[in-house]
Amino acid sequence: MPAEDRYEVIVVGGGGAGLAAATAAAQSGCKTLLVERRPALGGTTAISTGLVSAAGTWSQRCAGIADDTPERHCDDMLTAGQAQAERNSTTLTRLLAEEAPATVDWLAGLGVTFGGPFPSPGASRDRMLVPLPNAGSYIFHLARAFRRAGGVLRLGAAVDDLIVEEGRVTGVVSGSRRITATRGIILASGDFSAHKALRHAHLPQYDAMPAINPHSVGTGFELGLKLGGEILNGDIVRAGQLRFPPPEGQGSLVTRLPPHRWLAEPMRLALKHLPKALLKPVTMPFLATYLTPDAALFRQGAILLNAAGERFTDETKAPGLAVSRQPKGQAHIVFDAHIAAHFDTPPNAICSAPGVAHAYLRDFRRYRPDLVTSAASPEALAQALGMPPERLSASLPEGWAPGPLYALGPVRPAISTTMGGLRVDENLRVLRAGGAVVPGLYAAGSVGYGGLVIVGQGNNLGWAFTAGRRAGLNVARDQRNI
Ligand SMILES: Cc1cc2nc3c(=O)[nH]c(=O)nc-3n(C[C@H](O)[C@H](O)[C@H](O)COP(=O)(O)OP(=O)(O)OC[C@H]3O[C@@H](n4cnc5c(N)ncnc54)[C@H](O)[C@@H]3O)c2cc1C
Repeated sequence: MPAEDRYEVIVVGGGGAGLAAATAAAQSGCKTLLVERRPALGGTTAISTGLVSAAGTWSQRCAGIADDTPERHCDDMLTAGQAQAERNSTTLTRLLAEEAPATVDWLAGLGVTFGGPFPSPGASRDRMLVPLPNAGSYIFHLARAFRRAGGVLRLGAAVDDLIVEEGRVTGVVSGSRRITATRGIILASGDFSAHKALRHAHLPQYDAMPAINPHSVGTGFELGLKLGGEILNGDIVRAGQLRFPPPEGQGSLVTRLPPHRWLAEPMRLALKHLPKALLKPVTMPFLATYLTPDAALFRQGAILLNAAGERFTDETKAPGLAVSRQPKGQAHIVFDAHIAAHFDTPPNAICSAPGVAHAYLRDFRRYRPDLVTSAASPEALAQALGMPPERLSASLPEGWAPGPLYALGPVRPAISTTMGGLRVDENLRVLRAGGAVVPGLYAAGSVGYGGLVIVGQGNNLGWAFTAGRRAGLNVARDQRNI
């Protein structure tokens, strides 16, 4: 076997968890290989909003928040996840809360600039941070630190199988190559939202709903299951939120900015000190693209129409699943002039990022005009949206104000992330169904949720980085078989 195919640690997947794991292992002095299936690093982490929550951070201290603690963060997460309390791992929740601050400090030390802290639903203190200018900052700074620590990257190479010798995982198969690792293998290959069979087995009601990341192919789950691992909470999913498509051919400006510090630091200061009105040209396209329209829109009477001009569900009751079953998996939000006026100005926002900004109908008109259609009559609206006029007219509620009508959309629900994960212990070692360790195999991030039920904002990425880093540090201590 050539020397380039022998390592101490191999990490499968170059998203947030994999990069954190690989960097931590390489910084601990291990000869580390990171194998990424796609031509570029990033995974779902790179397309995420990037929010991460941690208690007792430097950002909180700068903002005068001195009384937040990991215990408080843990309590908030357990309270937010109360509906599924019996399925939640309190051990891993506590571990996440306790280690998230060190993870954030570590990321900041590698060069990630954070804005915030911001409030988030269910959090008793403002502790949510945003990477500036975007989530690409994590990928850029972690990859740089990994390379500087001597790590080796293989891009565009999928891991297809694991090598097992005498009961211990000792390497991976990638195409025609067999690559070995003396200390261990870390699975960090993301969730299974684009794995049809696993999706159907655990979440059959979501068969029609696409994954936001079509590359979340779930290989890590297959590999873990093959060695006797088990999936916990496979039927829990973050999905179905109505989302607007990004502007044609590009993301918003925020998502395209380069992740360099010379840009991030002024952005941090601007977020802190500039009046929110001045930030609007930057925040609004982002807000109007990546956030979900508020349910208040439907409570006020807005309706959803499919391509046939038909109403197909009770819009006030989590309509995402119903929308996913419509032609093209999409619908338009339609409302009259009265509802339009209600959501045109504060305090009634269509999309909200609490503490950052709110987007009203006028903001959509200005910053995402491609999403707004207005027409003087039902017939004109039907024509503009390509719907049969008589069907659309018949679908409109009685009692709507005569005059102009508005449509916002299309909206398309998708699966953000599956929450099922391989069973792992506190050291991120993969466990068999009976609880025995699979020697040499670790799992971090989405593939290693291990029974953690994450509800609050910023905790999925908190877990990806925290679990990844912890797995990388632990595998570096794994002395067996060297
Ligand atoms: C639109 C969106 C916004 C989000 N925003 C937030 C947020 O603001 N805050 C938050 O906490 N969470 C957020 N999340 C969730 C969060 O992004 C994920 O939980 C997190 O990124 C998962 O990280 P990961 O490293 O486990 O997986 P990923 O980032 O998906 O990385 C997995 C990597 O493994 C690679 N891979 C897969 N199979 C193989 C293979 N066989 N061989 C080699 N490589 C392989 C993939 O190509 C990918 O690069 C968001 C999710 C979405 C979809």
